[in-house]
Amino acid sequence: METFGVFCYPNSMKKKIIVAVLIFCMFVAGAVSFYAVKRPADWYLLRQRIASVFVRADLRHVSFTKENCTEETLADLAEQGTLVDQALMLINSEYPIAEGTDFPLGEYKTSGVMMNTAMLSDYASLSKAVGEKTGDKLYVMSSYRTAQEQQALYEEDPVTAVPPGMSEHQTGLALDVYVYQFAGEGFLKSPAGQYVNSDCWRFGFVIRYPEGKRDVTKVPFEPWHIRYVGIPHAEIIAKNGWCLEEYIDALSVGEFYGYGDYVISRQKGPAFVIPNTLRVLSISPDNTGNYILTAEPKKS
Ligand SMILES: [Zn+2]
Repeated sequence: METFGVFCYPNSMKKKIIVAVLIFCMFVAGAVSFYAVKRPADWYLLRQRIASVFVRADLRHVSFTKENCTEETLADLAEQGTLVDQALMLINSEYPIAEGTDFPLGEYKTSGVMMNTAMLSDYASLSKAVGEKTGDKLYVMSSYRTAQEQQALYEEDPVTAVPPGMSEHQTGLALDVYVYQFAGEGFLKSPAGQYVNSDCWRFGFVIRYPEGKRDVTKVPFEPWHIRYVGIPHAEIIAKNGWCLEEYIDALSVGEFYGYGDYVISRQKGPAFVIPNTLRVLSISPDNTGNYILTAEPKKS
């Protein structure tokens, strides 16, 4: 009969192996801590990349029968209390701002900082949350710019700045933010910068030029440039790891999508198909020739 021997380490060898494993683990922990302290932005991005694998925000298809829908124009919707804004306008080199487009602007508190009125209160909430979570005060480096100001920036630095018409700053919906001693690339090294990058979606903002999306946005990663798109769009974009281009692309024209209690629809207009069971909360042009409607079920 064939027998199989089981190899056993002697006790002294076992101890040596345990010590070696412990030393190895301590070395790894030390190396990780060193990396985290020395390269806080890279460490943050690594953790984000790992976390993003487990997070998704799936849009589900929703259908409505034609008999249960009515057709409404933009004016009809505005009359019914729908907020008409420009929060979902895609601005890039392919879809620049049409000349003569006006954006409603308001002063943020009494700071002298002008921003799109659509985001005044949500920016206040984000700023408050940054203070509460990190103890840092969030400052605005750059907000609304006129076409002339954008032109001057472009002439000064045509490599970094984009030509007038292609900058979101002209909409008042984009902000370059920073905290004391941490601006630009360095913003992500600060707890406030990391909080803004991870959680600004809770307040309707997205990191407009995320890491790894340069081939789509044509702009390198800008952890300081936040863009208002509103709720729930910011959450869907952030949790799916999309940029705004990808989100708008994911919404087929004429379809309805459910996300939580919200229903989202991208339509061409000028007559919009509105299910009778829904109340349209907001409507925004997407700047590609369509509009995006955000609705919720009517409360009985
Ligand atoms: Zn910017």
